Amino acid sequence: MGLLYESTRGGETGVTASEAILKGLASDGGLFVPETIPCLDVTVEELAGMTYQETAYAVMKQFLTDFTEEELKYCISHAYDEKFDTEEIAPLVRAGGVYFLELFHGKTIAFKDMALSILPYLMTTAAKKNDVKNEIVILTATSGDTGKAAMAGFADVPGTRIIVFYPKDGVSRVQELQMLTQKGANTCVVGIHGNFDDAQTGVKKIFGDREFAKEIDQMGFQLSSANSINIGRLVPQIVYYVYAYAKLYANGEIEKGEKVNVTVPTGNFGNILAAYFAKQMGIPFDKLICASNDNKVLYDFFTTGTYDKNREFILTTSPSMDILVSSNLERLLYLSCGRSAEKTRGMMEALSGTGKYEITEDMKNFMADFRAGYAGMEENAAMIRKLYEDTGYLIDTHTGVAAAVCAAYREASGDAAKTIIASTASPYKFSRSVVEAVCGKQDTDDEFELIDKLEKLSGVPIPQAIEEIREAKILHNRQCRPEEMKETVKSTFSK
Ligand SMILES: *Cc1c(COP(=O)(O)O)cnc(C)c1O
Repeated sequence: MGLLYESTRGGETGVTASEAILKGLASDGGLFVPETIPCLDVTVEELAGMTYQETAYAVMKQFLTDFTEEELKYCISHAYDEKFDTEEIAPLVRAGGVYFLELFHGKTIAFKDMALSILPYLMTTAAKKNDVKNEIVILTATSGDTGKAAMAGFADVPGTRIIVFYPKDGVSRVQELQMLTQKGANTCVVGIHGNFDDAQTGVKKIFGDREFAKEIDQMGFQLSSANSINIGRLVPQIVYYVYAYAKLYANGEIEKGEKVNVTVPTGNFGNILAAYFAKQMGIPFDKLICASNDNKVLYDFFTTGTYDKNREFILTTSPSMDILVSSNLERLLYLSCGRSAEKTRGMMEALSGTGKYEITEDMKNFMADFRAGYAGMEENAAMIRKLYEDTGYLIDTHTGVAAAVCAAYREASGDAAKTIIASTASPYKFSRSVVEAVCGKQDTDDEFELIDKLEKLSGVPIPQAIEEIREAKILHNRQCRPEEMKETVKSTFSK
C-alpha cells in the first residue's frame, strides 16, 4: 500500500499524495501530513555519490507513492535543469566556521525556487492522474519570495492560473519589481493594504469557503495552493537537507554518522519543518535551530510553550520572515500531541479566537530537537558586516538572521557540532539592506545603483533575475483591502 495523508484537524483521511497536492489545504482548514514519516531506503554512502536529481528521486518517491517512477523522474528532470545557474543546484559554501547551503540558484534567486520549480509539474501530473477537468487556480499569499517563484513556475502552464497577494508596503523593491513585471497571461498580482498575516488569513478563508468552492466549480475552476501548506512544497524541500548532509560526508568534512546541526531563518516554519522531516527519515541531524527576526513569536513559543500572536507586527530588513502566524507549525503541533486532531483543532481555534494557545510538557519534550533564537536588525547587519570583513563572503538579510542566531547559540551552549545554515536568498534580492549593513546608510533612491555597488563588493556577477527587471515593463497594478480579496479573486474569473 502507498503512503496516505490525513488532515491535522481530522476531517480528511486516506488521501493520496496527488490528491493532497491538488487540494493544497484540507477542506476542514487543516494541513495534510503523511500517516507515517517514511525512512530513506539508501545509505549516506550511497547518497554521497548521487546528483541532486538522483537524491530528489530517492527522497520524493518515499512520500509521493502514487506517482510512477516515470512521472516522478519527468517532474524532477524538468524542474532541476538549466533554470539553476549551477549544476550542483544547492551548493555548500564554507565560511566563518559554518556551511552555508545556498538555496538561491534558481530563477528568482530565493529558496522558494527549490520547491516551486517542481510544484507545477507535480500539480499538472496530479491533475492528469485524478482526471481533473477544471482549470486549477493557484491562490497564494506571499511575504515577497513565494509570489514570484510561484508565478515563474506556473506562468503559461496550460490548465492553470495563478493569483498572488502580497503586502503592498511589506516587501523589498527588488521583490516588488520582480512580481510586477511577471509575464504570462495566466498570472495576476495584487498588492494588499495589510501585512503578510492579513494576506495569508484571507487566502485561508477563501479556501475554507465551501459555497465559494461550489460556485467556482460550476464555472469550471478549482483552487489550489503554492504556499508551504501544500505538501508539494514541503516534500521537495526535504531533498536539499539530505543532499547537503551527503555532500558533507562525500567531501570528507564529517565522519560516518556524525551529527550536524541545522540553522534555518524561519517565517512560516516550512523550511525548518523540512529539516525535521529529513531527520525523521534517518539523516543524523542533531539540533534544529529556529532563527527569527524581531517578529520573534516562534522564539517565545519554543522558550515558553505559549504561542501568542498578540503583538505589534514589525517591518524588518528580512521581510520574508515578517510573519506572526506560522502556518506549518500546525504540522509539528499535530505530531507532538500524538496526532490528536481534536487537540490540534482546539489550539488552532484558540489561535484564531484569542490569538494564543499553550502546549503541554509532553509536547514540549517532543520538540526537544528544536532550539530557538532571534536577531534584531542591528545584530543582523553586524553579522553580515563581520562575515564579509572576515571572509569576503556576502550573505542576505535572512541568512544574516540565521548566522547571528547560530553564532549566539554556539557561544551560549558550547555546542561545537558542525552546522549547516540554510542560505535562503541572494544578497541581490535585498540589495539596499545588504549594502547598508556593510557600508552604512545610503542616500540614493536608485535600487540599481545599489545593485552595481553590491557587485563590486561581493565580486559575484549580477544574476539574470536582477538583469531582467532592470528594463522590464510593469505589467500589474491591482491593489485591494484584505476584506476585498474574495471579490478580487472572483473578478479575475470573468476574463
Ligand atoms: C520564505 C523565506 C523564509 C522563511 O521560510 P519559511 O519556510 O516560511 O519559514 C526565509 N528567508 C527567505 C529569503 C524566504 O523567502
